[in-house]
Order: sequence, then structure tokens, then C-alpha cells
Amino acid sequence: MDLKQLDHYLIGEAWTSTQAYAHLEKLCDLAPRFSGSPGNFAARDLILGRFRQYGLGQPHAESFDYLTWTRGRCELELLEPLRRMLNSAISLVYSPDADHLRGHVVDCGIGSEQDFGKAGSLKGKIAMVTTANPENRPAIHRREKYGRAVAAGAVGFLYVNHKPGLLAETGSLRPGKLAEIPAIALCYEEGWQVARHCKRGPVQVAMTIRNETRPGQGYHVVGVVEGQTDETIVVGAHYDGHDISQGAMDDATGTVLILELARILAPLKGQFKRTIRLIAFDAEELGVLGSQEYVRARRDDLTNLALMINLDGAAGPVASHGFLTSGLDDTKSVLQAYARDFGYPLTFKDHVMTASDNFPFFMQGIPAICMVARPDNSALGRGFGHTAADTLDKVAETDLKSSAMTIARMLARLANHDGALGARRSREEIKQILVKQDLEKALRAQEKWPF
Ligand SMILES: [Zn+2]
Repeated sequence: MDLKQLDHYLIGEAWTSTQAYAHLEKLCDLAPRFSGSPGNFAARDLILGRFRQYGLGQPHAESFDYLTWTRGRCELELLEPLRRMLNSAISLVYSPDADHLRGHVVDCGIGSEQDFGKAGSLKGKIAMVTTANPENRPAIHRREKYGRAVAAGAVGFLYVNHKPGLLAETGSLRPGKLAEIPAIALCYEEGWQVARHCKRGPVQVAMTIRNETRPGQGYHVVGVVEGQTDETIVVGAHYDGHDISQGAMDDATGTVLILELARILAPLKGQFKRTIRLIAFDAEELGVLGSQEYVRARRDDLTNLALMINLDGAAGPVASHGFLTSGLDDTKSVLQAYARDFGYPLTFKDHVMTASDNFPFFMQGIPAICMVARPDNSALGRGFGHTAADTLDKVAETDLKSSAMTIARMLARLANHDGALGARRSREEIKQILVKQDLEKALRAQEKWPF
């Protein structure tokens, strides 16, 4: 097949099949797919079954050990200036237990470095931040805000959604381990109420949390489209979701794209120069834990890996399709050269995504990038992501199809590309990219700065 025939096959398959949306429905019906839950295991079995059915090479599940977490009771009571239960309260993932932990609340704004600087010492206090991001600057991750609260001596952490709708936004506090101080997420409306009282005078709350942690096993699902060489491109997406949500956008969509790539590319076995390894990762929502374990397990054997492409929330309108190229100029130029002949524009940003499955690969010096497909608006934060409203109705079937088309076309080109897809970076070069993107402080606060 020449490139034009190949494009016709890939685009035709992506647009004429109803498989993608059927899989999205199925994955949402299986939800919650929280790691270690029955829905998660059912999703694993579904993906593995499809990999086999489509004729992908070496279909298998790979296990790893980790600390499972199960949500239990969570109560947040406002004690001062008035008594009231705050009913939207949910524990954040890996929060330690609390037994009527009382403390005065300090409103730390959006939880930026400046906000915490202004708040000063939080010894014995409960730090409250919102999910909002600074304008025109990189988003601040929840784990960074939490890390700053811990460092400032807070005894508790409140995480308030900045978007209305009675939705508390969940997420993990530390990767794969019990966090230091109890943490509760609140909806916008109740958080706003607490913040209003903070402006008037002292506000006291009591936190009660009972969760469960125990050792367990997670599973990545893996399959390959064998190429003419062992040089490999990994394409990954996480199939786990949060326990309070269908995780439709985050990341059932990415999982569906992996299934579409399996379906569309499996018949092309032996036709690409490079081998394509498709991975549905587990335990991303536990702090990028699963892919971290995947990379750790084969740290000494990543030699054949030429590129990693991550699909986390990568289904969206075709006008927003693009790539985050992690400050890797050589990889970016390869993709940009192909993008010129796509017939529709793709956007490119140098940003390093530090909170998804590309990051552990990137930190090993492997060119690792993300496909993105949502309008670039940091004011929206995660949108409905990590809330109970990340549901099937938010995803358009045509967005799934168009994203499958874009990633299949780009991947086919990269798999046949003559020459390197980007140089391996040394530890020092990786450090320099992160410093240049002003990510050092953010990663230090999250205990993710290894240099
Ligand atoms: Zn995700």
C-alpha cells in the first residue's frame, strides 16, 4: 500500500465502523473502573478479549503489585461560625483516616506558590484551595497544591471545585502510597460558603474519614502489531477510572482509541518498519502509578523503544487535535513534517505533561509525547473530569472517530519513518527541559523531582 491507499484504509475504517462508540458504551457501563474494583477487572478482560479477537500479536495482561485503596465514610462538619454538615464531602484518594479532626480553615486561594507564601505557616490549620488554575500560566496540579499544604504544616486539606454544579472533584494525593494529612474534596457551592465565612472571621471544621488500603495487583493489557524490526513505538492509554465516575472522557476514550488502533492496525502486521505496542495501562488515577511500575520493571530493557505516545482524554473535535511534544524538538519536527500533508491542521505545543502515562517514559530519556484533543482553556481545569459527571453523554461519537483517524494516520507514518523519531535524552538533558519549562518547583512539591 502506498501512503494514499494506507490513508484511505485508515480513515475509512475509523469512520465507517461503529465499534468505537460501542466500546465506549461498554466501558462506561462497566464503570466504575477504579483500580482493584470488579469493573476494572471486567474492563481488563474486555480489552484482552478484543486484542485476541482482532489478531493482535502476543496479547497478554501484565501484573504489578501496588497499594489498593477503597473509599469509606467521609464527613465534613462546619463547627464555626455555624454548625452544618457539608454534604458534598468526599475523601481524596490515598487520604489517611481522620477521627473528628478539628481545625481552623485557612483559605489558600487557588493553591499557587504565591497563595501559600501569603498564608505563611499553616501549623495546626486546615488548608483550603480550589481546583482553579492561574490565568495564562501552566495549570497547577492537585498533588502540587497538596504537597505545598503538607510542607506548610497543615493538618488537613480541603479541595474545592471552582466550577458550579454540586460536583466534588476527586484525585490522588500521592503516587501509590498513603498520604500525610487527611484530605476532602467539596463542591463549588459548599466551598464557596466556607470561603465566605473565612472572609468574616474564624471558621472551624471537623473531618472524619475512614478508608481502606491493602496490597493488591494491577494489570496492564498489552498487544503488538509486529513490524519488520524490533524497534518499537508504544501507544498507551489508561483504562482505569475514578470510583465516583464513569470516567467516560478520562479515560474510556483513550482506551477506545487503543482498541480502535488494535482493530485497524492488526491486519497490517509485517507491513510497518517498526513494531507497534499497544498498552492499556492500569492505575493511572493512583498517581501515574501503573505506567511508573511498567517502566520500573523493565528499566534495563527499554533499548528498542523509539517513541511513546500517550492518549489520555485524546478524543475531541478535530479542530483541537494536536500533540504535546515535551520540549523534544527533533520529535516535534518529524511529526510536524507529516502534519503538513494531513489535509487539516494539527497543533503542537512543547509542554511536558507530568501527570499522565507518558511521564515515566520521558523521565527515562525516551521520546514520550501526548496526543491532545480539547480546546486549550486552563480556566476550565479538568472540566467534568474526576467528577461524577464525566459520563457517556459528554462524548460525541464523531469525536471518537476523528481522533482514531488522526492517531492512526500519524502512527502509521511514524511506524514507517526513515531515521530516528527523536534522540534518547540523558538525565541532564531531561532535567534541562523540565527546568526550562519551569516545572522544578511543581515536581518538587509532588515529590517527583529525582535530580
Ligand atoms: Zn486520565
